[in-house]
Amino acid sequence: MSNDVVIVVFSSDRAAEGLAGAGERLASAMGGRVFEIAIDPAEYQIEECLTALTETCRELNPRAILLSNDTYSQEIAPRLAHRLGGSAVGDGVAITAELRVTRQVYGGKAQAVIQLKRTPAVVWLRARSFAPASGGQAPSPVRTGGAPVLHAQTRIVERRRETQGEARLEDARVIVSGGRGIGGPEGFSGELQPLARLLGAQMAASRAACDAGWVPLTWQVGQTGKKVAPDLYLAIGITGASQHMAGISEAKQIAAINIDRDAPIFKHCRFGIVEDYRKVVPLLRQKLSAIQR
Ligand SMILES: Cc1cc2nc3c(=O)[nH]c(=O)nc-3n(C[C@H](O)[C@H](O)[C@H](O)COP(=O)(O)OP(=O)(O)OC[C@H]3O[C@@H](n4cnc5c(N)ncnc54)[C@H](O)[C@@H]3O)c2cc1C
Repeated sequence: MSNDVVIVVFSSDRAAEGLAGAGERLASAMGGRVFEIAIDPAEYQIEECLTALTETCRELNPRAILLSNDTYSQEIAPRLAHRLGGSAVGDGVAITAELRVTRQVYGGKAQAVIQLKRTPAVVWLRARSFAPASGGQAPSPVRTGGAPVLHAQTRIVERRRETQGEARLEDARVIVSGGRGIGGPEGFSGELQPLARLLGAQMAASRAACDAGWVPLTWQVGQTGKKVAPDLYLAIGITGASQHMAGISEAKQIAAINIDRDAPIFKHCRFGIVEDYRKVVPLLRQKLSAIQR
């Protein structure tokens, strides 16, 4: 890929420090520059962001536009590609300079390589599915300003925060995930969350546990949930249906606790324990607490 890299960040006075700072670090590492769009990311509105991004991309005329894998990118990517007359592909795990994007298909059982022929290629990529770029060529990135053109026809009237103060699940290095086998919300709060705290892990869940209302919907991992790529994914009381596995195909290690030795999850595990989680998790917590003391 060409070295002419532009990191576009939404930034306001309120959010400037964190975002512009992150943009500059990234730009330094990649030898690029930062382009700021004056929109407060905390006040995200799809139409405003899309319009501003479209204008910015028309000005910059990039060959490829890369987005991260959050829900915002998922709603922006195809619309941006359409407005710019380009092409779009989602959930990539690798991309080459020739605009070939690799993505998982059939729940991670196979990989498809998609050649994007129309530019700009708008691609959202799965976080942590490849190593960060190393080395930089331009240690002092140039900062350019950009003002949005706003034509919003819709607006968000209410925002509800589901989780507070937690990092994004997609960026987590360790994930403790529970399924229907946990039996209820108290299993999550009383057993799994204390374990996650000891491991410095993020919490996640299967769709069955989310649909039952035991945990927030934002915890769902899988085909219709989040795609994660942690170093360790600990699946507890999760059967390992293909739709769940589609969300963890990039996990470096999967471990499971399940009472059913024939549960499909064990086929994907390096480590597995066939036992009731209510017996295993307290023991794990004891051991971890002893190590940390
Ligand atoms: C179109 C579509 C999209 C879907 N998208 C998703 C998705 O994004 N994510 C997702 O997760 N699912 C998704 N599903 C649902 C998926 O097919 C499964 O139904 C779901 O993943 C099952 O969740 P589960 O493993 O928690 O529950 P179950 O299948 O009920 O499994 C529970 C497991 O817990 C074990 N268990 C029970 N008690 C204990 C105990 N005390 N200790 C230890 N283990 C115990 C059991 O042996 C069993 O293996 C989707 C389905 C469809 C049709």
